[in-house]
Amino acid sequence: MSDNQVLIVEDIRVMAKLLESTIADMAKVTTVETGEAALQVARDQQPSLILLDIVLPDLDGFEVCKRLKADDATKHIPIIIITGLHTETEDETSGFALGAVDYILKPFERAIVRARVKTQLDLVNRTRELEAANKELAYLAAVDPLTKCFNRRYFMNTAESEIARMKRHGTELAVAMLDIDRFKSINDRFGHEVGDRILAEVAEICEQTLRREDTLGRLGGEEFGVLFPSTDHDAAMGVLQRLKSRISHQVSVIARETVSLTISIGLTDVDPGDENIDAALRRADKALYMAKRLGRNRVIYEPSTPAELPPSTFPMEDPQDGEFH
Ligand code: GH3
Ligand code: MG
Ligand code: MG
Ligand code: MG
Repeated sequence: MSDNQVLIVEDIRVMAKLLESTIADMAKVTTVETGEAALQVARDQQPSLILLDIVLPDLDGFEVCKRLKADDATKHIPIIIITGLHTETEDETSGFALGAVDYILKPFERAIVRARVKTQLDLVNRTRELEAANKELAYLAAVDPLTKCFNRRYFMNTAESEIARMKRHGTELAVAMLDIDRFKSINDRFGHEVGDRILAEVAEICEQTLRREDTLGRLGGEEFGVLFPSTDHDAAMGVLQRLKSRISHQVSVIARETVSLTISIGLTDVDPGDENIDAALRRADKALYMAKRLGRNRVIYEPSTPAELPPSTFPMEDPQDGEFH
């Protein structure tokens, strides 16, 4: 027996019993005797299918059908109308017009009830499988397989919708770029596989430190982007400082050597004017570059509106190398 549940709405006991025994091996069955109870149980238990009698002690079946189809919580549930009324054609058309998928006349043939219930349950199950497959596909298309955080494309799409939301609601949006410091030397010392593992660890610490509403994306290589919706740069700075310090305190033991790691971060806020994500990321990247130049393991903030004063004497030359992220 599948885990499908069928709701039978039938006020005549013998008829209900007959229906129950007809489909008992095909699904779990719940039976109610009134229209109000049908609406309640349909909402609460989300059955796969409803077998609905027309003449009921309270609401009539057509009204029940109409209300089930008008409610977002129940409108997806297929309904088979089962009735002994003899104004058949009229009932049949009104039942279909109200959204019923099928129609069975009393007295019914058990084999026919079974066949029609099976058709509907098969359809429900196939739809569920498709929905699950679609979800899985959407997940695979959005997630970076190594770090399990969002990939660049998903990050950019989310950024565009966050910018649109920010403009609509007049809220703030902070954006950061993170880059692991001297990651090449990790690969060189321990190999690419260990590098991969450390990348995934860094992403994990980011996920743990950021808030639920923030979006983390792997922009490429050992570089990540973060969106902080409804957040000013001071608040984002606090989170990023915490993140930077957590990562530098995390020590991995690899091949009996202890390895510690640092990250550099560039932070900016999105301009409420007409800015798109590319402009904000360019500014965050500039700030990140500055963080590298100033010695790494730090967060640098670059405001969205250019300062009135000319830039200070930075950037300084990095004495160690001329190569940056
Ligand atoms: P900096 O502090 O200036 O950022 O130094 P860096 O060594 O991190 O920067 P650089 O851009 O010179 O090198 C980045 C390195 O990141 C090069 C590449 O081997 C490594 N890398 C990029 N993507 C991956 C990956 O998916 N897995 C591993 N293991 N390494 C990666
Ligand atoms: Mg009845
Ligand atoms: Mg780097
Ligand atoms: Mg880099």
